[in-house]
Amino acid sequence: MNAAASTASQGAAPVERLPASMRFIQRDWLSCNQVVLFDDDDTATLIDSGYVKHASDTVERVRAVLDGRRLARLINTHLHSDHCGGNAAIAEAFGCPILVPQAEYPAAHAWDEDALTFRATGQRCPRFAVAGQVAPGERLTMGGLRWQALAAPGHHPHSLIFHCAEARLLISADALWRNGFGVIFPELSGQSGFDEQQAVLDLIRGLPVDRVLPGHGPVFNDVAAALAIADGRLAAMRGDARRNARNAIKVLVKFLLLDRERMPRSALTSLAGSARVLTDAAARVGLPGPEALDRAIDELAAQGQVRIEDGWVVDTTPQAAASGSAG
Ligand SMILES: [Zn+2]
Repeated sequence: MNAAASTASQGAAPVERLPASMRFIQRDWLSCNQVVLFDDDDTATLIDSGYVKHASDTVERVRAVLDGRRLARLINTHLHSDHCGGNAAIAEAFGCPILVPQAEYPAAHAWDEDALTFRATGQRCPRFAVAGQVAPGERLTMGGLRWQALAAPGHHPHSLIFHCAEARLLISADALWRNGFGVIFPELSGQSGFDEQQAVLDLIRGLPVDRVLPGHGPVFNDVAAALAIADGRLAAMRGDARRNARNAIKVLVKFLLLDRERMPRSALTSLAGSARVLTDAAARVGLPGPEALDRAIDELAAQGQVRIEDGWVVDTTPQAAASGSAG
């Protein structure tokens, strides 16, 4: 899950090529990016699988990158629907095992829909079988390089990021993008998330990293600039916790429209009563749920991210663009 609010491009320096053993597949805001890492034995690891709506597209992109080599495993950074919605399709297409963050394993294994966030956000994710787990601190070899999984709570309490000290690379999921980071979901339900996010930013600041492969948006190499932007956004949220909640509602509404393309306005506002994360966020904003949703829809319309037509809310993202492009 992501925050589509900040996608402005920057005049960053050209990004150096990644190691030959790695491929980065840049997607959009509905489906996260994928990273494919090849080992010497012609097997590969895939990081994250995108949203279910684009699952067949994801399978074909990964198949093209594999070019006959075997996908040995899929590892999820975290179990948000835009990072694991393609898991079932990938497992079916390539027969590979799926590993999830250790703290997510019990809920995923039991498919505990209350513990997983799909229903709470009104999003979709087909059930998939989990074969194993990755623990914070665990060391893995991927793409012929040594990586370490690191806990990255804040956006999602159980998220992992992957750091490679020898190649000075970071697979950052939704903990750090070029222009921000994912919604701090724990804060919406009154749990701590801002402190954790700050700790993650400080952790990244202390790592040897020259290039970041984020969960959304392009690869970037100006890590200090991205951290400065993230620090600023987090400070603003801390100063006004309603800001995170207002942004969360807009992000969730935009996500639903990217998925469904058009919805009756009444159906969208009534989600405030059934999708727990939206209910929580509305409470944080201090408005009745439907009113908070109405305001978010009006703001998105004013920004041109949706348009209102005869009681319908229509996404304005061109669908061809929404499926993203390989990078
Ligand atoms: Zn996420």
